[in-house]
Amino acid sequence: MNTFKRIFTYVWPQWHRVSLVVFCAFAIAILTSATMLTIIPILKVVLENGLHSWMDTQVTEARYGLQFNLPQTDHLTISSVDEKGLAAQAGILPNEMIKGVYENPNQRDNALSHMLKTLATTQQESITLSVAHIEGDTISTRDVTLSTPMDHNAVEILDLGTFHRLRFVINQWLATTGQALVAPLPREDTPRNKMIVMGAIASLIMILTILRCIAKFAQVYYAEKIVQNSVHSMRVKIFSNLTHMPLSYFANERPSDSVSRITRDTAEMNSALKIMLGKALREPLNALFLILTALWLNWKLALIFMVGGPFVVVFAVQIGRKIKKATRHSLVASSLMLSKLEEAMAALRVVKVYNQQEHEQRRFTEISGQLLKQQLRISKADAATSPVLEIAGLGAACGAIMMGTHFVNQGFESSKFLTLLVLLGAAAEAIRKSSDIWTKVQRANAAAERVFGLMDQPLETDNEGTEDLTPLKKSIEFKNIHFTYPTAKTPALKGVDLSVQAGQTIAIVGPNGSGKSTLTNLLPRFYDPQQGRILMDGTDISAVTLKSLRQQLGMVTQQVVTFNDTIANNIAYGKPDATQEDIEYAAKRAYAHEFIEILPEGYQSMIGEHGAGLSGGQLQRIVIARAILNNPPILIFDEATSQVDAESEAKIHKAVEEVMAERTTFIIAHRFSTVVSADRIVVMDKGRVAAQGTHEELIKTCNLYQSLYETQLISD
Ligand code: ADP
Repeated sequence: MNTFKRIFTYVWPQWHRVSLVVFCAFAIAILTSATMLTIIPILKVVLENGLHSWMDTQVTEARYGLQFNLPQTDHLTISSVDEKGLAAQAGILPNEMIKGVYENPNQRDNALSHMLKTLATTQQESITLSVAHIEGDTISTRDVTLSTPMDHNAVEILDLGTFHRLRFVINQWLATTGQALVAPLPREDTPRNKMIVMGAIASLIMILTILRCIAKFAQVYYAEKIVQNSVHSMRVKIFSNLTHMPLSYFANERPSDSVSRITRDTAEMNSALKIMLGKALREPLNALFLILTALWLNWKLALIFMVGGPFVVVFAVQIGRKIKKATRHSLVASSLMLSKLEEAMAALRVVKVYNQQEHEQRRFTEISGQLLKQQLRISKADAATSPVLEIAGLGAACGAIMMGTHFVNQGFESSKFLTLLVLLGAAAEAIRKSSDIWTKVQRANAAAERVFGLMDQPLETDNEGTEDLTPLKKSIEFKNIHFTYPTAKTPALKGVDLSVQAGQTIAIVGPNGSGKSTLTNLLPRFYDPQQGRILMDGTDISAVTLKSLRQQLGMVTQQVVTFNDTIANNIAYGKPDATQEDIEYAAKRAYAHEFIEILPEGYQSMIGEHGAGLSGGQLQRIVIARAILNNPPILIFDEATSQVDAESEAKIHKAVEEVMAERTTFIIAHRFSTVVSADRIVVMDKGRVAAQGTHEELIKTCNLYQSLYETQLISD
């Protein structure tokens, strides 16, 4: 759960929307319960004595704690008397009969409808009742003075605790509100009046429903807005982290795993967040208010219904655990599948030429099968949730129905019982709808772990007390450099010592895997050596800011990197404020202008992600133009061994030679012409500097250089 909590740091900045969403969820819950409660008046109108008579009995109960057996004929038979009510205070007992209710004892009117009406509407502090007591065959009648809630002293001396006092106050308020609501409706119980009353109730339902739907729209829409915004900030944050993470991270991880974390895993979190702010807020609140309303109608019956609750919770937690585990596995499997797919697509030609389709097919089936297995596990748990909860709910409901019938036999209003059933049914439905929330949250939790796992990766940071590096003037020195890649067992560099004067061109040669690239990768601090130091003008590069260090470096790698943008923007990549003249000047020096100029859209031509439409040599020249425009004092150049046509090759060579003349250059050289034009040649072997010198010196003294010269250097 902790991981998922962290998502809320992204949600919280939108607290104003969150408050609105929560408010709407409460509004929906209250309006749902209110709509359900309209069943009672409907039943009253259709099946019983009409709305006013029912409202009067409700108010009488709230005011005096008196309940009657209904429907009545010519007197009111008391079914129960609340011990803590005003009726009990006046000495009225259950099973007695009220034969008359008088505001003025001298003006007696015994009509039944008047009795109830007077009880419910009187504004006097006390009224007189004519109460008949039946004992065997004898009936004795007496006058009782009944205090009304208008008599504050009488209410004061009622023995009410805080809870009962609160209930008394709420009931008075509800009674008065109810009375006020039905007051405009006609009192007589005629068929026409029934229609009017029904029309009024239908309008009320309509209003409640419209309000509820507006609240639901606002809740769903703003929840979505919050979620999309949060996930967007999360994606942006991860991407920013990705660009600031040390390269060593990517040495261990597949890039497609990061891609899958940013796309799939955040999508998984997205759907769960949506549920958290939508359904997870709405349905439990709905259930809560429905249950509270049911408790208010009859708490004993409602409690019986809820006996199943704890089982449901235990079950949900169990299933949630299973789902979280399976989701974690399935996300890993799906990211594996993604990388397999990427690999296979990129290697399609090789797969075909080596006739390895079946082999690839087998491996893919295996990986996809893993995903299938995990997803089926999730589906099974998902599918089991709803039916199990339904059975538990139905069991409780059956119990409630049996008990309810018993209660009705004892005088509980049948219309209230029916309403209670509907309320509890709706609550069960709300709970059923909530049942997959937990499982979804668990899935998101697993996804969140992976997303935050990526976010928590340490970033490249400047060491403490670093200063900006000043432009190189004298020398670069590698002192006893030892370096092993994080994933490798054997070191790639084993004690390299090398000193380079500023302005020199150093050609680095050596067999594959001898450590040439590794050595040049240490200069921009893509990696830090485990032992040894690199000094620029005597300053350790680990003691300067990464930004100032990298500003001094230009890099042209064999693998040409272009962006999905115009040629002009690709050249100006490191210098966004460059003018068109600057760009063209750089392009001319890189011998790129000549082919750019004749393109239909010139410098504004788009280069596809992988440089579609331009040859390898042309792309290389664009990349060189980029380095020239950036004008770094130090240039690292990994000479292309292939993919370059002869014409490009010659031009690249010329361009590089001209550029080299003005700065300190390290060339991982593969061509004889490059090697001979360098100031010094460094021969690398097995992570060490085997020899250094000019071509003439090395060809005489270094056996390794001789054999490289004969077998590996490309002559042109
Ligand atoms: P060269 O450029 O001379 O061909 P490299 O500098 O690329 O050699 O590699 C030197 C050694 O380091 C090799 O043994 C290679 O396998 C290993 N190596 C290179 N890159 C990595 C990496 N990212 N992770 C682990 N080992 C690596």
